[in-house]
Amino acid sequence: MRDKVIAGIDIGGTNTVFGFVAEDGEILAKSRIDTICHGTFDEYVAALCEAVDALKRLACPDCELVAVGAGAPCANSETGMIESAAQFPWKTNLPLRDMLTAHFGVPVAVANDANAATVGEMVYGSAKGLDNFIILTLGTSVGSGIVADGRLIGGHRSMAGELGHTIIRPGGRPCCCGRRGCLETYCSATGVVRTALEFLSERSDDSMLRRHDADALTSKDVYDAAMAGDALAKEVFDFTGRVLGEACADFVASTAPQSIIFFGGLSKAGDLLMKPLQEEFERNLLFVYAGHVDLRLSSLPESDAALLGAAAVANQIL
Ligand SMILES: [Zn+2]
Repeated sequence: MRDKVIAGIDIGGTNTVFGFVAEDGEILAKSRIDTICHGTFDEYVAALCEAVDALKRLACPDCELVAVGAGAPCANSETGMIESAAQFPWKTNLPLRDMLTAHFGVPVAVANDANAATVGEMVYGSAKGLDNFIILTLGTSVGSGIVADGRLIGGHRSMAGELGHTIIRPGGRPCCCGRRGCLETYCSATGVVRTALEFLSERSDDSMLRRHDADALTSKDVYDAAMAGDALAKEVFDFTGRVLGEACADFVASTAPQSIIFFGGLSKAGDLLMKPLQEEFERNLLFVYAGHVDLRLSSLPESDAALLGAAAVANQIL
């Protein structure tokens, strides 16, 4: 019997990564092309289809392609179009799904990239088998996806799941969204740097971080210092974890998740972040939820999560 595979396509502003995913989530082969050097959108899609076909001929010629899934910024899963992504040089309302269907002749699903990542976690990752969970992506910013009763919550205009922009410290740090005190300004990689700089300016105790140029300080520098035993750097993660734990306790009240799953660079800080997070989460959780919600890390490798997410969206329509 021929192996059934799904083609997953992750369309980013710079690169498009694509590959073939087996039923168990194994990526059999993957490759990439540039996204924006192809002139028109039609020319881009033609180049993409050709590259996908070439990879299949090379890496899994005997597999049966059963579906194609694509994730892209501002992609609408109902219309199958990329509506208005600022990352791309093309006009709006690009009919991605129709064009991929015309070429591949199999079912095609399209979703925005954040939603695709959440579905990826549900189909192939830490949320497998869960009907109620929240995923928080802790990177440069804070992204989120909410699944309730087995369905990804889209909401009006598919805009649900902006937990990174919930105000958790009224009057707090200025956020890129124009408001103050958003979760993202505290619990992202950039939030960690802001906390470190605040601590360094408010306090006089010695820290390895004082040897860094303040303008060039990164969350990795703070992590490395904390792992080397630097007290101030450890307190930065402790503060970050506590703020996040408190916020997560509140998020539980909206959709009653069974799990909150953390993904992204900052979640790799391990116990430095997770221990204070867990403590503060439990301390602030409404009693009716106590003992019924766990905090866990994503099991998907960061480099493959978007590709798996795209494939997972297609998996769901089969
Ligand atoms: Zn904000």
